[in-house]
Amino acid sequence: CIIIPFRDKPNDIFSQGKGRTQNLREWKQYMCTFLPKVGHSKSVVRIIEQTQDLPFNKGALFNIGAILEMDADCFIFHDVDHIPERTSNTYTCQDDPVHMVTRTSQFGYKVVHQGSVGGALSMKRSFFKKINGYSTMFWGWGGEDDNMRLRIGPHLHKLDATVGGDKALDHERVHGLDKTDLYNLHPSNDRASGTNTTIFTQMKETVERCNDLMFIHT
Ligand code: UDP
Ligand code: MN
Repeated sequence: CIIIPFRDKPNDIFSQGKGRTQNLREWKQYMCTFLPKVGHSKSVVRIIEQTQDLPFNKGALFNIGAILEMDADCFIFHDVDHIPERTSNTYTCQDDPVHMVTRTSQFGYKVVHQGSVGGALSMKRSFFKKINGYSTMFWGWGGEDDNMRLRIGPHLHKLDATVGGDKALDHERVHGLDKTDLYNLHPSNDRASGTNTTIFTQMKETVERCNDLMFIHT
C-alpha cells in the first residue's frame, strides 16, 4: 500500500502547501499507468489529508495511513510530488527498508545524500511496528525524515542509482522554513512518539478507481 500525506494550503507559513492539488492530480494520472506496468494492477493508494487547523504533520499522516491499512504487509511512504521514471523500480518491499528516490530532478538527478529517506521509502509492516512508525513531534516543515533515518539505523538500503530515479513535480519552494520557531522546537532524537501516540478523527473517505487500482482519500 502506498501512503501519501497531503494538504493543499496555499498560505501555510510553516510548510509548502501551495500547488498540492495539482501535484496529486498529476501523481494519480501517472501512477495509474506506471503501477500496472511494474506488476501492481490491483494496488491500494491511501491519500491521507490533514484538516486545515494545525501545522502540517507528515509523520502523523504516514502513521494514520498505516493504521487504516490493516491488511498490507508492505508500505511505501510517498511524497505527492515525486514520480518514478524507471520500470525497473518495481515498488516492492525488501526485508529491510529501502529508500527509493536515489536520484531526483529536484537535485539535478545527482545521487542524494546517503542518509536521505525522503520522497519514497518502502518498509515492511513488521519493521514499521518494531520502530513504532514515524515520530509525531514534527509539526510544520522538515526533520521527520531524518528522525526516521535514526529509527531505521543500519538497516537502511538504497535503490541502485540506475533504478531509483524520480521526477519531482513542481511546487512553490518556500525559503527559511528551517529557521522558523516551530522548526527549532523539533526534538530531532525523539524515539518515544509514533503510531502509539497517533490520535486522529476520520472526517471522510472517498474511493476512486483507476482500472483495478484504488485511490482511497481520507
Ligand atoms: N505536503 C503537503 N502539504 C504541505 C506540505 C507537505 O501535502 O503543506 C506533503 C506532500 O506529499 C509533499 C511532502 O509532504 O510531497 C513533503 O513536503 P515538501 O514537498 O514540502 O518537502 P520538500 O520538497 O522540501 O522535500
Ligand atoms: Mn517537495
